[in-house]
Amino acid sequence: AEKLLEVKNLTKLFHLGKGQILKAVNDVSFHINKGETFGLVGESGCGKSTIGRTIMGLYEKTAGDVVYDGKNIHELSDAEQFAFHRRIQMIFQDPYASLNPRSTVSEVIAEPMEVHKLYKSKKEKVDVIHRLLEEVGLNRDHATRYPHEFSGGQRQRIGIARALALNPDFIIADEPISALDVSVQAQVVNLLKKLQVEKGLTYLFIAHDLSMVKQISDRIGVMYLGNLVELTDSDNLYENPLHPYTKALLSAIPIPDPDIEQTRERIMVKGELPSPIDPPSGCVFRTRCPFAMDICATKKPEWKEVEKGHHVSCHLYNDKVPVNRNKGVVIN
Ligand code: SF4
Ligand code: MG
Repeated sequence: AEKLLEVKNLTKLFHLGKGQILKAVNDVSFHINKGETFGLVGESGCGKSTIGRTIMGLYEKTAGDVVYDGKNIHELSDAEQFAFHRRIQMIFQDPYASLNPRSTVSEVIAEPMEVHKLYKSKKEKVDVIHRLLEEVGLNRDHATRYPHEFSGGQRQRIGIARALALNPDFIIADEPISALDVSVQAQVVNLLKKLQVEKGLTYLFIAHDLSMVKQISDRIGVMYLGNLVELTDSDNLYENPLHPYTKALLSAIPIPDPDIEQTRERIMVKGELPSPIDPPSGCVFRTRCPFAMDICATKKPEWKEVEKGHHVSCHLYNDKVPVNRNKGVVIN
C-alpha cells in the first residue's frame, strides 16, 4: 500500500497563559494509505480533532512532522500550500454550524470553488453544483433552498457536497455522524463509502464511538489524553485488543459474535479522566488502569509494534517487564 499521509512524532501544545500548558497531542505517529479509511477514536478532549486540524494547517504544530504525498506540509511554499488546501477537505460534526444560514445551498457548495477559481463559466459552476447534489443523494431543486430547510442528515450531505467541490483526494471527517439520529448515521456512512469507491478518496474518520469508527475504518488508532495508545486493523482491534483502554472501550460495546463475547476480557476503567494540563507521569492511563504497576508511574511506555501492523503503548507488552496480564481485571 502507498502512503498518502504520514504523521511523525506530532506534538501540539496550547499555551493557556499563567504558565499553563495543555498537552493536546503528545508525540503521535501513524500513517494513512491511499484509498483507505483510518479511524481515530477516543473520548472528547483526547486530541483527535487537534490532529485533524493540525493536518489541515488550521493549527501550527509544536513538534514533529506531517508529510502529505511525500511533501512535508510545514515546508510548502505559498503556492504549494494553496494547491495542497484543495486536496484536503474537512467535514464537521454539526453541518448547520459550518454552513452559512444566509447562503443558499448552491452558494454554500460554490464558495470553495470560487476561492480556488475552479470554473470557467457560470453554466459550468451550476452544472458542477447539480452534479455534486446528485452525487450526495440530493437533487438539483435543492440548490436554491437554504440549509435550515433540511434535516440533519441532509445538511450533512450538503456539507459533504461542499467538501467534494474542490475534487479533493483526502477528507478529514471530524465526528461527521455523531449529531445525527442512529437511523440516519448508517445512511451517511454508506454515502461516504460509496463516494470513497467512486472517487478513490482517502479518509481520516474521527469519532468518540468505537462501534461507529469500526463500521467504516480499515485501520483504527485509539487515543487517550493526547497519546496514541494502540493502532491496528479494524478487525484485529475487535478480536485482539491489547491496550487496557481499548479493552475498556470494547467492553462497553455488545458483541454480536458469541464466541468472541465469551472469551473477551471485560474491563472497567476507574476514576475520572485527568486534565490534559496536568497529565499523570509515566503512562497517561495509569490512574484509571486496573493493571497499573510501579513502572507505569515512572516510565512512559514505548510505542511498540508487537505484531505486524499492530502497535501498542503499554508496559504489559514490554518483554523486560514481568507481568501478569490477567491481574486486576474487573469481570462483570
Ligand atoms: Fe496500564 Fe501500565 Fe499499560 Fe499504562 S502501561 S496501560 S498503566 S499497564
Ligand atoms: Mg473533537
